[in-house]
Amino acid sequence: MTNNEEYINLIKDWIRPLQKALTLESENRFTNLLGKKQYFNDYLNKSLSNLNNLKLTNEFIKLFGEFSSKYSEYNDLDIKQRKRLVIDTRKGLLKLGKSINLNYSNKYTDSYYSKNIDSNLSLNSDIGLIKSIGKINKNKLNELGIYCIKDIINYFPRTYLDYTNRVKIINLKPDNLYTCIATVKKFYIYKSSNNSNLSIMNIVIFDETSSIKVTKFFLGKRFRSYSFFSSQKSLYIPGTKLAISGKVKLSEYGKNFVDPQIEILNTNEESFNFSGKIMPLYSLSESFSNLSFIRLIKRVIIYSKQYPDILNQKQLNFLSLVSKSDSLINIHLPVNQNALIESKKRLVFDELFLLQMKFLLRKRKNNKKLTIQKSIKKNFLLKDFLNKVPFQLTKSQEKVLDEIKSDLSDLTPMSRLLQGDVGSGKTIIAIATLLIELEKDQQGALMVPTEVLATQHYKNLIQFLNPLLVSVELLTGNTPQKKRKEILTNLKNGMVDILVGTHALFEDKVVFNSLGMVVIDEQHRFGVTQRNRLLNKGDNTNLLSMTATPIPRTLALSLYGDLDISQITELPPGRVPITTKIISEEELNKLFKRVENEIDKGKQAYVILPLIEDSEKMNLSSAKKIYQYLSEEIFLKNKVGLLHGKLNSEEKNNVINSFVNNEVNILVSTTVIEVGIDVPNASIMIIYNSERFGLSQLHQLRGRVGRGSQKSFCYLVTSENNGLENKRLRVLEKSNDGFYIAEKDLELRGPGQLLGYKQSGLPDFVLDNLPNNKVLIEKAREEAQRVLKEDPDLRENILLKDLLIDNSNNKFIHDFLN
Ligand code: ADP
Ligand code: MG
Repeated sequence: MTNNEEYINLIKDWIRPLQKALTLESENRFTNLLGKKQYFNDYLNKSLSNLNNLKLTNEFIKLFGEFSSKYSEYNDLDIKQRKRLVIDTRKGLLKLGKSINLNYSNKYTDSYYSKNIDSNLSLNSDIGLIKSIGKINKNKLNELGIYCIKDIINYFPRTYLDYTNRVKIINLKPDNLYTCIATVKKFYIYKSSNNSNLSIMNIVIFDETSSIKVTKFFLGKRFRSYSFFSSQKSLYIPGTKLAISGKVKLSEYGKNFVDPQIEILNTNEESFNFSGKIMPLYSLSESFSNLSFIRLIKRVIIYSKQYPDILNQKQLNFLSLVSKSDSLINIHLPVNQNALIESKKRLVFDELFLLQMKFLLRKRKNNKKLTIQKSIKKNFLLKDFLNKVPFQLTKSQEKVLDEIKSDLSDLTPMSRLLQGDVGSGKTIIAIATLLIELEKDQQGALMVPTEVLATQHYKNLIQFLNPLLVSVELLTGNTPQKKRKEILTNLKNGMVDILVGTHALFEDKVVFNSLGMVVIDEQHRFGVTQRNRLLNKGDNTNLLSMTATPIPRTLALSLYGDLDISQITELPPGRVPITTKIISEEELNKLFKRVENEIDKGKQAYVILPLIEDSEKMNLSSAKKIYQYLSEEIFLKNKVGLLHGKLNSEEKNNVINSFVNNEVNILVSTTVIEVGIDVPNASIMIIYNSERFGLSQLHQLRGRVGRGSQKSFCYLVTSENNGLENKRLRVLEKSNDGFYIAEKDLELRGPGQLLGYKQSGLPDFVLDNLPNNKVLIEKAREEAQRVLKEDPDLRENILLKDLLIDNSNNKFIHDFLN
């Protein structure tokens, strides 16, 4: 490869995931999606400012720098501003792509446009080389992150329209799923008079046999605007041809489609003749139609045949899987439902199989690294500490501690995941674990996701450990320069025993003398790469990962195959379960009286909001506004505090300290308090706009109360009067069990959204197909074990080996395979 090509690929690799993220975000109506590792805006903010090796011109550096800083304030933008920013970013990226392509070789591409060289194309060919694709389409595809033929083939449909059950209107029967092709006769949309949040759209459609009403509901204030109404109206002009797919219901007014999938068909639709077939639907930008994309797919699908298959025929037979090329063809153009199911199964298998291979390789590498047993030098530390703890460990805590002790007395480094519900007492275990390694003169790191939590842990640690002459330091992004320097020096020469901190610990400047133990709290907030970066700061470093978001059992194996799992299954004695209630905004005033009573008795309360500041269009309550309201109009006798992510660390600490010391009675906060804050005297929590949060997140939030022995209450305020929403929230009314709640969350929202999966490294496509695929996970694991046993260095499995190297920024696997 020439340097120039390498450079172009570098840029493309940078642009591609950004384009994907932008597409997803706009598809999801600019809601600041939570990706696998981070929020959309954080991802863009970081990527757009990290241009170091791209060698861009000043013009682009400036442009992307500006975008980057705008993304840091994305949460405060309204939808329209967000949309503008996303579009502008896309344009900027496109411009960059164009600028390098021009330098690259205009002639080269142009000459290929004119020649018919399709037979010379391969999976890696630039899409510009596809015959008659045209420059405009090329640009549009680039915007979607598609550069070569392989990218097209890997651009899977988001869903399908099944014309195999295509029926004429007259033959529709209630309670069945159908697809109908029909024409718009009448359209109307109106605001519901019963529910101030609901808009209802009705379309009457007809075909040569009859007509039927289609009803669709739109929930949320944003769907009540004039502009939304007129945009819908312009979509469904009488005469427009539609494909309606969904359930037919029988009401007192006759049969109708209720909330079906509606697709607007191009007049060319019939020419594609999908009747009797399944039509793929792709997520595309507005400028590229589904049919154009299908046309493109049809043109390049043949190259799937060249797609390398990591499984040979014998394996395929044994595992009852279809070939890679068949799976790719059928994921786009399935001949029937069964073929589609089989191809999904194969594609999901591949991801799981690769993941399991990685786990096994990593595990094997760890197991290979035997060292001399470190000798114990200060064997009193753990004992002294446990003597100082003012309570008895629960049976569960004892058991987990035994598991950890046994890991740490072994020659193989520990890799353990500790799952324990909110309030189950993981912190004590973390401290004990750090001390066991400290007894061997090893340093420890305690890594947490937020500064607030880091500070709290730090205080906890010094209180217990300073009397034992253990030196503990705190390092965050806000540690003053001078202090920071001092800490880093002492860390390097071994004077610091335990370092508590946030992401600041990852930085290269942080060098340990001998790092023996890494504990990661709230590990679902970190990625695997981050975790490894910290582990690589020592040799044979032990790892304890802790989480309060339990992973449903079906998924634990696939996501954490490289970790051993411990569970704290009981709460400390004397805990009274939190009473949770869903309430409407109208009931708040009554509730505030109750809160006042509780405060009179010396108790404290949290009030949680989804936003920091008011945002015009979002129609959500904000922390600042509610703070003002509560402090100036409601709780005049009491002290109200305000906590959110935009305060500087001194301000944050001040508020939290006053709350800890009960000088502040009511703490109004955003979800920054979600993780770990421990104030046992707080007994009431009120969560505004609770429908905005995931169940597991709400469970985490409410875990801030009920930490003492008094009765505690959590109120979920919701304005959306909607059956489904309430069904979701009601899970929390009913249960205090984090495992059960995580299972329900998974059921109701799908795994992609559930906290704790972010670092899985699995594509959403796989996650969405996982819940029913327990057997497949086990198969993938067994096959990975078999392959490694028969071919430990992967000499016979060259393709697999390449993929493992390719797919992974992960040093472990490189180390192992080279
Ligand atoms: P989490 O698992 O959510 O991190 P913490 O470690 O913060 O929970 O513990 C929650 C509270 O329970 C703390 O106040 C802690 O001191 C207390 N605690 C922990 N273990 C016990 C125990 N065995 N008995 C009584 N209280 C305990
Ligand atoms: Mg904790």
